[in-house]
Amino acid sequence: MKRGLLVILSGPSGVGKGTVRQWFMDDPELNLTFSISMTTRPKREGEEEGKDYFFVDRETFEKAIEDGLLLEYTEFVGNYYGTPAKEVEDLREQGKNVLLEIEVEGASQVMAKVPDAVSIFIVPPTMEELEVRIRGRRSEPEEIIQQRLAKAGREMEALSLYRYTVCNDDAQLAAKLIKTILLDAMEKN
Ligand code: 5GP
Repeated sequence: MKRGLLVILSGPSGVGKGTVRQWFMDDPELNLTFSISMTTRPKREGEEEGKDYFFVDRETFEKAIEDGLLLEYTEFVGNYYGTPAKEVEDLREQGKNVLLEIEVEGASQVMAKVPDAVSIFIVPPTMEELEVRIRGRRSEPEEIIQQRLAKAGREMEALSLYRYTVCNDDAQLAAKLIKTILLDAMEKN
């Protein structure tokens, strides 16, 4: 059986990665599994343990770093986020394509370790639209929003590291473009 692909999906905070993902994730042709990250960030309303993230405390996270259990990790707006390595490896061995939805610092660690990863960067139609989307979330204090906006601007500069760029003007269209990219990568795998 062929080893599954490793797919990296990034884009600035608020660009709508989750929404785009929903449109292609369950497509049976793509045979995708979502890699569930570990984070120290507090759970948002509607999020579920073991589905959106594994929510842990800093001590547990730092132990995972120490034990070499993470494929990559980063600190983002005051919290740790990381990808458990073994789960990703096992799924790929089972022939599943694994999707990592991660920010750019972690993505560049993965690209260095897994050069054949399929990396996709989602961009907003404009930076003004991105700000509207980040504020629309309304679940966070102004200080955090400001940090996310500043970080989003810096994240946009990492775009050239990625193999593909997809604009999220329309989430369903962005998902169709990603499907095309993935079908092509599967054919060449
Ligand atoms: P949020 O707090 O909005 O869920 O996530 C903040 C950022 O962290 C997003 O850009 C998200 O894609 C990224 N992220 C989520 N999980 C991981 C991970 O395991 N590693 C890294 N490097 N970034 C992650």
